[in-house]
Amino acid sequence: MEELMKPRIIVLGSSNTDMIIKLDRIPRPGETILGGAFVTAAGGKGANQAVGAARAGGQVTFIARVGQDMFGDQAVAGFATEGINVDHVSRDKSNPSGVALIFVGKDGENSIAVAGGANAKLSPTDVKKAKAAFAGASVLVMQLETPLKSVVAAADLAAKAGVRVILNPAPAQSLPDNLLKCVSILTPNETEAELLTGIAVTDTASAAVAAAKLRARGVQTVIITLGSLGAFVATEDGGQLVPGFKVKAVDTTAAGDTFNGALAVALGEGKPLKQAVRFANAAAAISVTRLGAQASAPTRREIEKFLKK
Ligand code: ADP
Repeated sequence: MEELMKPRIIVLGSSNTDMIIKLDRIPRPGETILGGAFVTAAGGKGANQAVGAARAGGQVTFIARVGQDMFGDQAVAGFATEGINVDHVSRDKSNPSGVALIFVGKDGENSIAVAGGANAKLSPTDVKKAKAAFAGASVLVMQLETPLKSVVAAADLAAKAGVRVILNPAPAQSLPDNLLKCVSILTPNETEAELLTGIAVTDTASAAVAAAKLRARGVQTVIITLGSLGAFVATEDGGQLVPGFKVKAVDTTAAGDTFNGALAVALGEGKPLKQAVRFANAAAAISVTRLGAQASAPTRREIEKFLKK
């Protein structure tokens, strides 16, 4: 019964396995350092957002591409555990799953190398195979760690099916106007907003200027996430800050991903925009109090409990 009431969310994007070695310090070129501690963690913005949305209460279909390797097996098994539909997570025969190799030194500095692998092969054909999933879906959520042409293809399908599109423009790259016109909600963080507009975003006032510039390019709603400050929301009715929640931040990895996943669910449930942003701020605030990317995304119950306090 509960499943029937959950909003249907489609997430398109990347899936990576983060392989992290913690060391006294990051090795220099040619150097070998012994004594590290190794952990793996599921990552990739697409996968993080899919998990964030599923935990926040969405019925999620994930469109992605992983390799036919151990990492792909583990990723798909992990999504299934979260209740995510994996029918459209394709297995690439000739490219490995996406991985990130991460060194973290004692002082917290890191060094990261990413091999996108199968993520870079997510194609418009993969998107078209998932066409049936768009009928009856409420929201499509995407980022920019997979090829732009597949993002455009999905935005097109969403527009035709009357599905709202949230585009989290991360990592930032210049975006064609024909894509922006299909986007209902654009959700850059401060850095991404600056890259897209040339305006340094540091506070509510500069966020308002950057958001207006993006809206002038055809996006209906712009939400600029401002870290602990919260999120600046700009629509045709004007702009305002939806304040963040005060928490003790431990690890802000994937705060934006948790925000986007939760936002999609709240909007899919029909919550008004500002209330949906407040829900997303709460989910992201909980996530920064915990270590990890996907691991830190809160459940629906946790978000509701937090909002009551
Ligand atoms: P990103 O993770 O993409 O850099 P932000 O840093 O803007 O994005 O964070 C996204 C959202 O996460 C914010 O809008 C806010 O709701 C929440 N958030 C981030 N950092 C904090 C913090 N220190 N305290 C409370 N909420 C936070």
